[in-house]
Formats: sequence, structure tokens, C-alpha cells
Amino acid sequence: MRPTRTPTVILRHCDAYDPERIRGIVRDGLERLGLRPRGRTLVKPNVVSSGELFKHAYTRPEFIEGVLRALQDRNDGAMTELAVGERCGITIPTRRAFEGAGYNPMLERVGAKRYCFEEVPQVEIPLTHAGRLRDAIFTPEPVASADFFVNCPKFKAHPWTTVTFSMKNYIGIQDDRHRLIDHDHRLNEKIADLQYIVQPEFIAIDAITAGEGRMLTPVPFPLELVVMGDNQLAFDAVCCHIIGVDPYTVDHLRFAHERGFGPLDLDQIRIEGDVTLEEAKRRAKGFKVGLIRVEKYFEGTAITAYAGAPPDSEKTDYCWGGCPGAIEEAIEILRLFDEKLDAKMPRTHVVFGAYEGPIPAAPGENVVFIGDCAKWSGDLAGKTVSVDSLYKPRETKDPHHAKHDDIFVKMASVLAKVRAGKGQAYVRLEGCPVSVAEQVLFLVFASGAKNPLLDPTESIAFNKAYVQWRLATTMQRVRGVPYQRPGAAPRGEAAPVVDAPDPAVR
Ligand code: SF4
Repeated sequence: MRPTRTPTVILRHCDAYDPERIRGIVRDGLERLGLRPRGRTLVKPNVVSSGELFKHAYTRPEFIEGVLRALQDRNDGAMTELAVGERCGITIPTRRAFEGAGYNPMLERVGAKRYCFEEVPQVEIPLTHAGRLRDAIFTPEPVASADFFVNCPKFKAHPWTTVTFSMKNYIGIQDDRHRLIDHDHRLNEKIADLQYIVQPEFIAIDAITAGEGRMLTPVPFPLELVVMGDNQLAFDAVCCHIIGVDPYTVDHLRFAHERGFGPLDLDQIRIEGDVTLEEAKRRAKGFKVGLIRVEKYFEGTAITAYAGAPPDSEKTDYCWGGCPGAIEEAIEILRLFDEKLDAKMPRTHVVFGAYEGPIPAAPGENVVFIGDCAKWSGDLAGKTVSVDSLYKPRETKDPHHAKHDDIFVKMASVLAKVRAGKGQAYVRLEGCPVSVAEQVLFLVFASGAKNPLLDPTESIAFNKAYVQWRLATTMQRVRGVPYQRPGAAPRGEAAPVVDAPDPAVR
């Protein structure tokens, strides 16, 4: 894993989403780094969400167009496929995210293939390194088979992992059922484990307009930069320095660094380009990262949050990768769709982890225990209540048998829980994690706010994409989709397990 040459990071000025300008900048970068695409060339953007309301959350299509055209410019005939692949934020069909982000006409124009990662076979990647969370993880076939992998994240803050640059963009190289495994207080370790699947030959981040504060609904922050590099750790370290974050304080970077994936110290990284690191830092002055505890986040609103320690409390006293962060993103999504959300929200108490303090809820106020690890006992509006942890140990979650949770099933399940909770002392939302989508639905049903999934501008496109996704995966199952990862099984070893697209449609 150790880089064989000094990792290089290139900082370039770019103040417009002009595909031709970006093409020239990226072509220069590829030349400078001596890189040419070869074989199956796969570009991984960050399209976690899409559309006008989320326009600062995703790698812009103009940026990807510039990258794709630069790769074509550098192709000396060795490239056999040029593709863009992603699994967007869970439960939304990726084909909808690509459409909403304006990728489809661009891909057609450029002549690049599109992969929706939840619609392709998933390949098992065995892990053997010390400190791994599990012995195997799954990734979509185009990722496992990529000969030239290009990572194109969006430069953003993140409420669970401080930042989302190059390494964190890997959360989109798993389909929903595998992505949600270990997406909890060990999320940073999961991200470090994902690095063993593939390392990018080239990285280019969309930092023309960066995203401040959050990841799904970030505040636009003009940085006017295209940053490129050939080593993921060095790349993320420089991005951290730009916004004044010590890369050693970002756990997933530190874990991968300790495993030899690359340097974090600036004296081991070559920095080039027409923008100096000092100038980049000047532009980023005041950039706010995420990482706000949920209690603080909801101060001054109708929601009061209480967070105790997750399991493995010797590792952390707060679940940075799971339920508490998900509710912060959920409320911000709803605020975009319903400006009266905060006024509509009734007094609600949300509880995470093994919380030990009082919950001063008045009679009739909502009390919700969120996540399998929520645990509490005490007095709730005059009633003695005992809530037990439902947390299942990590080793009981086998990725070979992971199941997809359908959004419409989730919607029905959350609604049933809210209805069943009427007149009861509290509601319990189960899961580890309870996803952003489920927490959005809970808040919708609790407050009467507009449901984003039923928003007239979104619902037709969503349902169309949903049906197409289901049809595509059903057809693959009917056809059997024979697949083996080329060369993945070393001589004398078993071939990798290949998992069909979606067990929910069996
Ligand atoms: S249930 Fe939620 S809060 Fe608890 S460990 Fe899992 S993700 Fe974290």
C-alpha cells in the first residue's frame, strides 16, 4: 500500500463551472502526474443527493464533463471503457440522483457509460489486515474490476466525519445493505477498511463552490479551486490543511495513514499548481466543518436531544457515525422542503445511546428513543419507564445475508410506529443506524411537515426511477447475471462470492 513516489497534490484556480476550462486544468494535472487512463476507467463522483435544493451537495456535472473529456484527451488507445458510477444517498434510486443532478445528457454527450451501483452485481472482497471490522466487504462489480479508478468528490464538511473529501467518498462504493453495516460509531474504521477495495490512480475534487457545515444541505462556500492528486491520504491531508483542520484529528485519515496508505505530513507531500497552499488557506478562512453534538445542534428549537454512549464505550462516548448525525441531516432536509417546519414541530425529546440523565418531558410531549442501542430508565411524565438496548453485536451482522430495506416499507413501518406510539409514553425507532430517510419520515409524521418524497416536483420522477430500478434488478435476477471478478481469485483459492443486485426483489 505504501506509495512508491512522493505523492503530489496540485492546487489550481478555477472560478467557474466551465467544462472546457476544467478539461484543460485536469488534462494538465494528468500530464503533470504522468497518468493515462487504461482498461476499464471508472470515475466516482459524489452525487449523494441532487436537484436545485441540494445543488451544493454533489460534484457538479460540468466538473465531471471536464474530467471525462480530459481522460479522453489522455487516452492513447489503452482505455476500453469510460464510465461514471455511484450509489447516491440511500433509499433514493441512483438513476434519479443522476437525472436530478443533470448527469444523463452530459454522459450522453461525452459518450461515457453510467453505472448505478445498486443495480449491478456485488463482489466480495476479503480483508486480512490487522484491526479490520470484518473479514469481507462487498463492492459493486465496476469498482472491483476498475483498471483505472478516478475519485471525484465534492469538497464538503461532514457532521459525522468532520470532512468528506476523497477517502470519505468511498461510502458510495457500496449498495445500501452493505453501506449501512458498521455505519455507526465505528464509521471511521469502516471508511479505512473500504480503502482496501481499490486505490484511485487520480483524484480531482470539485472545490469551485465548496460545501460548508453539512454534507446534504451545505452552505455554499466559494473556494474557486480544483485540487488534484495521485495519493488519497496526501490529497485529503492537503484539503484538511486548506480549511485549518489537523488531518491527524480526522479518524479515518489517521487509521489509513497508520496502515500505510500514504502520508499526512506536508513535508512528505509535493504541492504544485498556480495557487499556493497559503493562498488556498486564505480563501478558506472561516470555513466551518460539521461535528456538532446533537444536544447542541437542537438548542433553541422544539426538539431537545439527549445522547449517551453507544456500545464499545471504551472507544467513544458518542456515536459520530450513526443516528445522532442522521437526525441533523434529516431536519435540514425538511427545512428545505417546508419553511414552516420549526413552527410546526411539537415539543419532542429525542434520545440516543445509553443516556443516564433525566428527560423532563411534560405530559403529551413526544419522546422518541432512536437506534437499537438506546437505553434508559426513569420517570417520564409521571410514569416509570425502562427502555432496553436492542443492539446486536457487530459479529452477528453478516454482509453475505444483508437485506435491502425498501423506502416504501420504511415509510409504512415508521408511520405504524408513530401511530402505535400515540397515547404511549414513548416511541422506539429501531435500527443501527436509523437512517436519514427514516428520521425524515419520523419527523414528517410527528410534525405534519411536507413529506419530501411526496413533494409534487419530486414524486413523479422518484417513482419512475424507483420502478426502473426494480425492473432492472429483477431482469438481472431472471437472467441470472453470471459474473466473476476477473483475476480476483488468486491461484488455488476460491473465486469471490458474487451477490446479485437486490434480495428485496426475490
Ligand atoms: S443504534 Fe444508532 S446510535 Fe446506536 S450505535 Fe447504532 S448507529 Fe450508533
